Order: sequence, then C-alpha cells, then structure tokens
Amino acid sequence: MLRDRLRGELVEPADPGFPLARQLQNTEYDTVRPHAVAYCESEDDVAACLRHAREHGLRVHVRGNGHSMNGWSTGEGLVVDLSRMNHAVADGPLVRLGAGVQSLDALDALKPQRRQIVTGTFPTVSAGGFLTGGGIGWQTRKFGMGSDRIAAARVVLADGRTVRCSATEEPDLYWALRGGGGGSFGVVTEFAVRPVDAPVMTGFETLWAYEDAVDVLTAWQEWCVEGPDELGTSLVVLPGMFGPGGRPVVRVWGVHLGPTEQLAAELDALAERAAAKPLSRTVGSRGVYADVMHEALCGSKTVAQCHRTGSGPEAEGHRHPYTRQSYRLTARAATRAQSAALLDAWDASLDREGRERYLLCIAVGGAANRVPRTETAFVHRDARFLIGYQMACRDVAADPGAGARLTAWADRAAGALAPLACGSYINFPSSRVSEDWETDCFGENRARLLEVKRAYDPENFFRHAQSIGGRPPTTKVAS
Ligand SMILES: Cc1cc2nc3c(=O)[nH]c(=O)nc-3n(C[C@H](O)[C@H](O)[C@H](O)COP(=O)(O)OP(=O)(O)OC[C@H]3O[C@@H](n4cnc5c(N)ncnc54)[C@H](O)[C@@H]3O)c2cc1C
Repeated sequence: MLRDRLRGELVEPADPGFPLARQLQNTEYDTVRPHAVAYCESEDDVAACLRHAREHGLRVHVRGNGHSMNGWSTGEGLVVDLSRMNHAVADGPLVRLGAGVQSLDALDALKPQRRQIVTGTFPTVSAGGFLTGGGIGWQTRKFGMGSDRIAAARVVLADGRTVRCSATEEPDLYWALRGGGGGSFGVVTEFAVRPVDAPVMTGFETLWAYEDAVDVLTAWQEWCVEGPDELGTSLVVLPGMFGPGGRPVVRVWGVHLGPTEQLAAELDALAERAAAKPLSRTVGSRGVYADVMHEALCGSKTVAQCHRTGSGPEAEGHRHPYTRQSYRLTARAATRAQSAALLDAWDASLDREGRERYLLCIAVGGAANRVPRTETAFVHRDARFLIGYQMACRDVAADPGAGARLTAWADRAAGALAPLACGSYINFPSSRVSEDWETDCFGENRARLLEVKRAYDPENFFRHAQSIGGRPPTTKVAS
C-alpha cells in the first residue's frame, strides 16, 4: 500500500480531507477527481509515489502549490504534492528551497537570515512551478529571472533515481529546468538559488481614471523601457466592480529599489509622460521584499492567513474563479494606437453587463534581457512586457453560457495581442493553446528541450497538455 510507504500523507477519495486536498488555486478544477493526493515529505516519498504509479499504470500529476492556470498539476492519476517540502534556509552563499515553498513563506523565513530571493508578485505561488517555468517578478529587472539564480536542483527522475543537477552535474537537465516548464523532466524536490543582497525597497500604488487609460498604458510602457532596473512594476485595468465609485480604473503598482526621493521623481515623470494626474498615489514604507509583498498583497492578514483558503486552519487567501485568459510577451512599448487597440479588446462597454475582466501587464526587461537566449531554457531575452487578459465568472453553474462567452472574449483579446507578441511565457499559458505553442514558448531552445526530454524521460512518464514533447497541441474546451 502506498500509504504505508510514505512518511507524508495519502488522501484518497473516501477520506474526509479529499475535497480540500484536490483543490488548486482556481476553483474550476474542484471537480477533477484524482486517484489520490500524496503529500510528500521527502525524496523517498516522491520516489515511492513514482514507483507506485508505474506499478499501477497511473498517470502522475506533479503539484507545487497548484497555481497552474490550465490545471496541469491535477488530473485523474496520482497527484504528487510538494507543498510540505517547504523549507527555505541559508546554506553558505546559497539558499536551499523546498520545491513546494510558497513565495511569501520563503521571503519571510529568510528575512531574519538577511537573505532575499527573486519571487513572483503573488504570495502563494510555489518555487516548483515558478522557477522551472522562468520566474518573473518585481525584482526581475534588477536581478534577472528567478530561474537565472538557480545554482543547482535535486530531481527525482522517471526511473526512480534522484540526481543533483548544476553547471557541472547533469548540465543538460540543469539547463532545461531553468525555463523549460514544470512537469516535463522529473520532480524537483529542492532548489539551491543564489540570493540577492536583501535590498530595501518601497512599494507604491497609483490609480488612474479609465478616461486616461490609453495615455497611461502608453506612458507606462515607455516609462518602463526607459526606466532604471530599480523599478519593478505592473499595470492592471480593473473593471467597474473594483474601481472607486463603480468606475473602471487603471492601477500602476510595484516596487522601487532605490531611494524614496528617486521613486517620487519617477512617479512624477510617469504622470508628466501620460499628461494626466492620478486619482491617488500611495507610497508605502521602506522595507525588504517580505514586508513590501505582505503590505501590498496580504494587507493586515498574518502570513498563515495569507495562505490559500482551505490549505491551513487559519488560511483566508482568496481563490480564483473560473477564468479564460490570453497572454503574450512583447518586446517593445506599444504605440498609442496599439494601446488603444489593447483597451478596445478589454472592452469598457462590458461593465454595463457587470463582467469581471482584467488587462494585466508586468514589466520585464532589465537584467532578464542581459542573458544570451540559449544560456538557459528561458529564451525570451528580448521580452519587455508580459501582457494579457483574464475574464472570470464567479458562478458558472448559474450561467450556462459563461464558457462560450469567456472563450470568445479571450480569443478576441488574443487577436489584439498577436501583432505585438514576441513569444509566450509557459507560466502564463493562454486558455486556447496554439498549434505552434512549443516554438512560441521556447523558440530555438525547443530542439534542445526535446533532446533533454528524450534523455531523461524517454517514455514521457511526466506529461501534461503543454509539457515538452508531450501530447500534440490541444485546445482547452470551454464548457
Ligand atoms: C494568481 C497567480 C499569480 C501569478 N503570478 C506570477 C508572477 O508574478 N510571476 C510569474 O512568473 N508567474 C506567476 N504566476 C504563474 C506561476 O508562476 C505558475 O502558475 C507556476 O507554474 C505555479 O507554480 P505552482 O507550483 O504554484 O503551481 P502548480 O500548479 O503546482 O505547478 C505548475 C506546473 O509546474 C509543475 N511543477 C510544480 N512543482 C514542480 C516540481 N517540484 N517539479 C517539477 N514540476 C513541478 C506542475 O506539474 C505544473 O505543470 C502566477 C499564477 C497565478 C495563478
């Protein structure tokens, strides 16, 4: 019995914990019924799961903390969950991260040790998916992609062996794990990453009237391209339901790693460039990223409360509703006409119907652009922005037309992004998967990724809808 072979916990469908154990971040996947969920606590647990899956002909679904937008970390087979392998400890010049550690927990654990790492902007994304896919966050412009800072990783392979990979050990696997996407080559149990020198930074948030959206979106992109690496920022267009006075609003927020006066000057420059005055401008207190992320994303919640609802006794963090999305990377600031087209696709008129949707942009560039394209599997070294759309439905059961409506809207949004795109980021997959998704995500690195796949997982034991060399392209069918 697998249960007896594990130090961790096995949750099967008949167990009372199963409804929570099968959840991902997005509620859409709550109906997926895995064979079982194994909460692994050691490499031996992971190896036992893989062995058991082989013996019983089960598919394996590797899960860090379940933020895959397209549900790649669940299915009807055995979910190998890493969330209890969640340490973050300083080890000489490196930091060792359990593959399931969540961003906020890692930042928080490392704070007393005066270490800081590059994470994404969301507190509960885990290292497993974030780092293997590339890793974009507000510290990326200054310190590079999260995966650029991986020095080594421990991986349980399809044949049950555990290997350490680094520049000198299993170098091809080491290369592939830095941006080739999770769930393709093996189960990473631990990363060793090079920390950044705990810079202090200041969080900021500005809100702008929707009437100024075209100017702000255009100015924000130019501001990022010309701005210093110390500026880490996102822009999101929020629907009326989340804007002041029920009106849609543009939020520009992020962190600045330089002195506060410099941030003030940067924010003045943005307003001048947009020829608009923000509705509000808030500058937070200076601190390390653990504090700034906490203030921006968790507010008054404790770290335990900030975890995803259902994942712990105190957890209150929100889950995401049924969503259809289209995302691409772009290599330059859009012109004013292109920004207007992006906003047309967001479609302000849908506010009259109370539709929940977002246009989200994250600035990349900086240090992430100063690495050769083939140095790691993450090929998009010209990417300046990740730009995309999400449309959500909070109650699909009560809205039978939602699937088709959201899909049609996401397809229109994809059309607006296409002329600007230089590729796609495997960690922000569109709902509709294109025929040439492997090339779009990996460019000229695709061929080497396929070779690594053949060498380390010739039977395609680790697979999901967008794993390397996996199933042929599929279209996610909206229901
Ligand atoms: C709300 C939200 C905010 C986000 N913000 C950002 C952001 O700011 N920057 C950014 O770059 N990305 C961001 N992402 C995308 C995120 O990086 C990816 O979804 C990432 O893959 C999630 O990792 P996870 O382990 O939590 O998810 P999971 O769903 O558990 O895993 C995602 C994929 O990685 C694989 N995987 C997970 N762990 C391992 C492992 N240990 N070994 C091998 N494969 C593994 C899984 O099989 C799956 O294919 C965000 C996603 C969401 C939903």
